[in-house]
Amino acid sequence: MTPTVGVLALQGAFAAHAAILEQLGVSTTEIRRDAQLDAVDALVMPGGESTTMSMLLERSGMLEPLGARINAGLPVFGTCAGMILLSAEVKDGRPDQRVLGAIDITTRRNGYGRQTESFESDLDIAGLDAPFHGVFIRAPIVERVGESVSVLASVEGDAVLCRQANVTVASFHPELADDDRLHSMWLKEFA
Ligand code: GLN
Repeated sequence: MTPTVGVLALQGAFAAHAAILEQLGVSTTEIRRDAQLDAVDALVMPGGESTTMSMLLERSGMLEPLGARINAGLPVFGTCAGMILLSAEVKDGRPDQRVLGAIDITTRRNGYGRQTESFESDLDIAGLDAPFHGVFIRAPIVERVGESVSVLASVEGDAVLCRQANVTVASFHPELADDDRLHSMWLKEFA
């Protein structure tokens, strides 16, 4: 059966993720309320602004139900701000910023510093046979990786693509690379 993939659509770069997933033949649905989570087999948490997304998740009452669904095994792919929200700890966040603690990494917001705030890098990704063009936009840097986390790609020694059980996170924007291989690889985990 074709899976239905939810794309968290409170804020940020959700439309491009949905377009790639549709091209890959899955149905997608935009998620703005927790009840909508019941209808999906997996979820993408896009890039954008993690402080704003955190606030909107709290205000909409979605934060706890979302955390519970992910804990119960919902496959989730978080990119950039989505990675921050899924992490165990965020540095340089707003004091009231919340994280879901779904993957045992520590991220630092905008951690690549001013000069290299946005950059592109060809990534060797475990499981792909040719490099993937990584687009980093005010990306978080991964400062700590827990033992249960697999690192699937790094830039200069820093993890940029990680997986722990049902949770996959990227500090870059795979939806902007004109390349569906990473979404396709993620879909194979559950579809
Ligand atoms: N800097 C953003 C944040 O802190 C993330 C940027 C992005 O998602 N492209 O949430």
